[in-house]
Amino acid sequence: MSYCVNCGVELNSAASCCPLCGTPVLNPRQKADETAPAFFPTRRAEVAPVSKRAMALLLTAMLGSVAVCCALLNLVLKPHIPWYLFVVGAAAMLWVWTVFPLLARKVPLWGRLTLDVGAVGLYVFLISLALDGGTWFRNLAIPLLALSAAVVFSLSWLLRRGHSLLTTATMSLIAAGIFCLGVEACCDWYLYSGFAPGWSLVVFACCVGLCIPLVIIRRIPSLREEARRRFHF
Ligand SMILES: [Zn+2]
Repeated sequence: MSYCVNCGVELNSAASCCPLCGTPVLNPRQKADETAPAFFPTRRAEVAPVSKRAMALLLTAMLGSVAVCCALLNLVLKPHIPWYLFVVGAAAMLWVWTVFPLLARKVPLWGRLTLDVGAVGLYVFLISLALDGGTWFRNLAIPLLALSAAVVFSLSWLLRRGHSLLTTATMSLIAAGIFCLGVEACCDWYLYSGFAPGWSLVVFACCVGLCIPLVIIRRIPSLREEARRRFHF
């Protein structure tokens, strides 16, 4: 049995060079046999990774077939509520969320976020159309969508340069608190034409309460290192 002088891998007794590093084998006792079967496989039997286009095609086919089947069923069954709009809207929203990023290259973050929010808006609009002609869409859904978009845009703009986990968590908590206040304000204005903060103020206070220790940990280097060691970030 012989071994490569360079990398030490075990060699076929009739090998002319090392299959791993290519170092020539010089064995005066045994001449190289070029016709002998290779000791190691010469071709890597590896399945090529799925391309993004193929994945996009598969997802488009899945979402499209579900939407078309539901629309056809709706035509045949003629239900009271055109429920196929829910399915078509959900399929369109999922397409924008999952397939579009696979196909589009180098879309800026704000463009992606605008499309995502637009897809949610379209879905909610289709639901409101199917249910009652869209009155609550104008007075409740649009303000809620605008609020969500504003919070997500601001958060992604503030975190665009990649901050530490502590800063990200602090900003996300504050954003969640502000979002809850906004949700209650929108619902209150829609229902009672006024705003008396209730549950959202509790959530906001909890978020602020959680942020204070995070800010202290971030400010004091010894605490920050200890947290980093304990929680592995
Ligand atoms: Zn070798």
